Amino acid sequence: MGMIYEEIYDYVKDLEIIDTHEHLPPFEHLREKDTDVLKEYLAHYLSCDLVSAGLSPDDYEKVMDNKLSIMEKWKLVEPYWDYSRNTGYARSLDIAVRELYGIDKICGDTIEELNKKFQDSLKPGHFKKVLKEKSKIKISLLHALLFENEKIVFDSKLECDHDIFRNVYPIDGIVFPQMGDDILRIEKQSGITICSFDDMLEAGEKLLDNALKQGTVALKSALAYQRTLHYERVTRHEAEEEFNEFFKYKHMGRYLPQVCPRGKNYQDYMMHYMLRLAGKKRLTIQFHTGIQEGNGNILSHSDPSLLSNLFLEYPDVDFDIFHMSYPYQNVVAALAKMFPNVFIDMCWAHIISPGDSIDALARWVDSVPVNKISAFGGDYIFIDGVVGHQHIARENVSKSLARKVEVGAFDVERAKEIARMVFYENPLRIFKLEDKL
Ligand SMILES: [Zn+2]
Repeated sequence: MGMIYEEIYDYVKDLEIIDTHEHLPPFEHLREKDTDVLKEYLAHYLSCDLVSAGLSPDDYEKVMDNKLSIMEKWKLVEPYWDYSRNTGYARSLDIAVRELYGIDKICGDTIEELNKKFQDSLKPGHFKKVLKEKSKIKISLLHALLFENEKIVFDSKLECDHDIFRNVYPIDGIVFPQMGDDILRIEKQSGITICSFDDMLEAGEKLLDNALKQGTVALKSALAYQRTLHYERVTRHEAEEEFNEFFKYKHMGRYLPQVCPRGKNYQDYMMHYMLRLAGKKRLTIQFHTGIQEGNGNILSHSDPSLLSNLFLEYPDVDFDIFHMSYPYQNVVAALAKMFPNVFIDMCWAHIISPGDSIDALARWVDSVPVNKISAFGGDYIFIDGVVGHQHIARENVSKSLARKVEVGAFDVERAKEIARMVFYENPLRIFKLEDKL
């Protein structure tokens, strides 16, 4: 790396940044304590690379329970970890253990010492050390995941530690209820008994208002995991007809899981309805696009151009498009260039594909106004990963900008200015955080 890179990185490494997206526990005391370093670090991301490389699902299960010793677990994953050693996911963890525990890399020689130091980090104070001291994060936008019987449930309890987080409100439970139980949950959270489709619409608005009262700064949808991002305009009649199916199962009582019929018309209508409300309240919505976490899904559901009708029909809603839409990063660039209400968010991106993140940002500064891009969101469900991710993000942004300076596109001062915008000023403005910090 040359002098220009060094000069830019030297500035970027100390920048205070805004973290657009995390899935961490909303309070440190809610952190799982009955754990070890591999169970925690393989809760997501690298675990998918390991399975993709050949780790059997049965062996992965063994890593995720508490029966084996840390060395026995390591032996199960070691060959696949070595195959994955150079991916962004693995690099992020090697950086994390170096920055947090002074350990060079995760391997057979270090795993036991690392696990001891990790156990020590379960004491209070570690969250602030990671987010504030080590990662220099001003604030993280939090989509807290709540699990019931190992399934994600949608909750309106949006309390979180305001020293480190601001919450975002996931609308997926309203747009796409998975089970009848989800509708019962919506009744409980909204205080509205759902006897008709109209009641459901009223509940949706009530939940949104509740979320705003509780300080939510944005909405969020991750439904590209379950269905296509193409939300067609359907009539109220079509949506209501599908919703009414739900009442056919009312007689089954609460001792059986209540069935919730699937209906794309209902979902499509509800997404449009929630966006109309978001527009009236001038809210930003974060949309998952691009690669889905896990080992198998339908990638084409997540193409961000499928959202074009929503961009056109809801000009008062700002759309924050997640994960640089990887591998659709050129598509999202065109969308951000075309639409005043479309913004690119690089959360998760720097560890999905560090090289593509560097290339994409270098291209976007040629094609997209630079106020349209946010450079960092950790997107981790466990705390230590954030420090590795922000480290890679700072390096990547510096590499992109250095590349442009080297070819004479702009000077080092402009590179620093762009870095400050993508890491801080843009997310501050896009999420209207100025008076909320
Ligand atoms: Zn996420």
